[in-house]
Amino acid sequence: MATQNVAVLGATGSIGTATLDVLQHLDRIDGANQWNLWAASGHANLDLLAKLLDGLHRPPRRVVLSDPESAIHFRSRHATAAMQICTGPDALVEVASDPEVDIVVAAIVGRAGLESTLAAVESGKRVALANKETMVVGGSLVNATLMQSGAELLPIDSEHSAIFQCLGEKSCKPRKLILTASGGPFRSWSAAQMDQATPDSALDHPTWDMGPKITIDSATMMNKALEVIEARWLFDLPAESIEVVVHPQSIIHSMVEFEDGSVIAQLSPPDMRLPIQYALTYPRRLACQVPPLDREQRWDLTLEPADRERFPALDLGFEVAAAGGTAGAVVNAANESAVGLFLEGKIRFTDIVPTCRTCLENHSFEPNPTLETLLRLDRWARKEVAKQANVDRPLRR
Ligand code: NDP
Ligand code: MG
Repeated sequence: MATQNVAVLGATGSIGTATLDVLQHLDRIDGANQWNLWAASGHANLDLLAKLLDGLHRPPRRVVLSDPESAIHFRSRHATAAMQICTGPDALVEVASDPEVDIVVAAIVGRAGLESTLAAVESGKRVALANKETMVVGGSLVNATLMQSGAELLPIDSEHSAIFQCLGEKSCKPRKLILTASGGPFRSWSAAQMDQATPDSALDHPTWDMGPKITIDSATMMNKALEVIEARWLFDLPAESIEVVVHPQSIIHSMVEFEDGSVIAQLSPPDMRLPIQYALTYPRRLACQVPPLDREQRWDLTLEPADRERFPALDLGFEVAAAGGTAGAVVNAANESAVGLFLEGKIRFTDIVPTCRTCLENHSFEPNPTLETLLRLDRWARKEVAKQANVDRPLRR
């Protein structure tokens, strides 16, 4: 029996906990492989990390935490003798490139996941990618690194997993990638209502249970904008070949249109364990814990155009996907900061996207940036957003 050593970076998050569940399931049902959680990382939720690891019959070899104080706390309460605890971004990079690791699940949220994801790609691993922000910030760098290392980059994001599944063998070039969007909690809200949206209402997603940052991104539809950029790099197609349609039931996860007009779609219940498992076991398909769609019920699956006026994030996403260069790093950083400020009650919901656009327009664009340039602009955009929120009184409630 072969062994699959898996490093789950961001194990305490929504994708991370679902991945741990999938690993346990695969370990039970896969006759060909033993599935080991070789390393797990957490950031602030140390008690949850301990609880997750307590539930495993084989604890991971490595645990990565963000700082030395967390490590002291964790070691004193939860660590076992066999567990090696390391800290900081460098430790994430080390684990992601450790020769003993076969698969890295990149499930840290935001730009914080960039270096470890890049390291996994550089070391030629199979990378199961949830952290879309890595592609948004550095898609061209990731693709260049992939060409050299021969790593496998398999999408976890449900839309991109769907497209990957619809594309099948690479003999036919797609004409369009059609990303579906649930529309989020404010799909039918007016612009005036959205102006008054509270963090609680924005966090109340109708179909998906996810971490707070991506849930706010779904409400602004910045998540779809980020996914357009992610698709542009993952499938190496220009922005004009990508479309977004609203599909409130979140059953059709995306579609591909081919040259003859034929459209292939992927359908399944809205449960991330399916795309996570497929990224781990590809090209094999094994029994999944997610129950299949209930075909005894009447299905009402609807598609409608996205409203780009009420959701200006979409135009922004297409512009950034077309521009490439430094645009993604700036918009991503501005968005991460603005979402944080909105959750703290410091800016309005409807300030998030205009803040990102202002940063995009005020930055000095470079078409072929290095990693250092991208990281410098990431820091610049975060400072710009903080400045706008402090100086610009109308941004405050
Ligand atoms: P969560 O907020 O639920 O989890 C984020 C994870 O990242 C946690 O493990 C968290 O640790 C860790 N983390 C946060 N900040 C840092 C940091 N500075 N350094 C190191 N680790 C950190 O997010 P999700 O699981 O929802 O999303 C993860 C990624 O997957 C995102 O990029 C998202 O866009 C993408 N994604 C998520 C989907 C979903 O259904 N949730 C669907 C498709 C894509 P801790 O909790 O211990 O603080
Ligand atoms: Mg998605």
